[in-house]
Amino acid sequence: MEKVHISTPSKDYPVFIEKEAIGQLESFLKDSNREVSKILIITDYNVGDLYLSKLENSLSSFDVTHYVVPNGEEAKTFEIYYSCLSYALEQKLDRKSYILALGGGAVGDLAGFVAATYMRGIPFIQIPTTILAHDSAVGGKVAINHPLGKNMIGAFYQPEAVFFDLNFLKSLPLVEKRSGFAEVIKHGLIQDFSFYEWLNKNITSLETLTDEQISFFLKTGINIKGAIVKEDEKENGIRRFLNFGHTLGHAIEAEAGYGKISHGEAVMIGMVYALQLSKAVTNLSFNMDHFKGWLSELGYQITVPSYLDPKKLLARMKQDKKSIKQKVTFVLLEEIGQPMIKELCDELILEELEHLYT
Ligand code: NAD
Ligand code: ZN
Repeated sequence: MEKVHISTPSKDYPVFIEKEAIGQLESFLKDSNREVSKILIITDYNVGDLYLSKLENSLSSFDVTHYVVPNGEEAKTFEIYYSCLSYALEQKLDRKSYILALGGGAVGDLAGFVAATYMRGIPFIQIPTTILAHDSAVGGKVAINHPLGKNMIGAFYQPEAVFFDLNFLKSLPLVEKRSGFAEVIKHGLIQDFSFYEWLNKNITSLETLTDEQISFFLKTGINIKGAIVKEDEKENGIRRFLNFGHTLGHAIEAEAGYGKISHGEAVMIGMVYALQLSKAVTNLSFNMDHFKGWLSELGYQITVPSYLDPKKLLARMKQDKKSIKQKVTFVLLEEIGQPMIKELCDELILEELEHLYT
């Protein structure tokens, strides 16, 4: 069993990573020395069909109810958020009740925001079911979307614990594995060259991942994220490094229309771009051809789809909530594992963007 400890100024909590991790949830709740009046599981249709009854059966000594929301981004709307709160009120959840988020990053973000705001905050536990959620379930950012911007309404609110049950990942579609694995590579590139090298050497297909490989890279990725969040929980400084690849990635997602290109696949194109910019600006020494060859082997598309206009992508990057006064700032690498923040001029941004179309 892998166990990681996350320590932030507002809360310390464990992350359990193993097959049958949820088998330990009941005893975790009993040992927590807190009375648990009721448990509300929030999940989506896909994940609910697959794993809800298993989770409910594992909590037989508690008063458990559930609420099922639409799959993916459709869950992160005001309407669904409101309906979750209504359900929680109808079910008379109180300050001693727990919310459990069973699903990928979308369910985790929604359920976490419900927990953060219901009666000014009740405890919640993340039970992530995607590889991507190794990133989203840890660190305490919870949010829903506004029609004018993604993740615009949210809070910093840490969970009581994270239970990563590797058995739940077995049903994950390949496209979702690819999306999540991009964030794993990101953690290696920004903080840990030897981890990046391990990934590059050992992961040659996302279809044949073993439990040992998955638990190793989830644990290492979570440790890297945990170390950053420990230093900068509210994103005033180094937490911004986690946005590596996201400046262009978010612009691609928004311009293509959410759901057309998965988050991680858009971020992967953004990382290729950020590495190119780094080579131009910081003289980063990195073998791009080798990197791109590996990504192609893993099934990533590493060019910007031709139907996306570079000028519109630039305009989107200027709207990013991290951009200040219309200037686009990027996370670049001086070396693998050594990130920095840099504001770049439009000419360079567009010039390097052109290289991503072929
Ligand atoms: P997701 O939650 O939308 O899940 C992707 C799809 O996979 C959904 O259709 C879901 O039903 C399905 N699915 C989930 N688990 C499954 C399983 N085990 N088997 C079969 N199908 C399964 O997507 P995601 O990629 O996990 O998360 C993306 C979301 O995370 C975005 O909304 C993004 O904004 C957010 N995010 C948040 C943070 C953060 O720090 N809070 C960080 C990164 C991403
Ligand atoms: Zn991301």
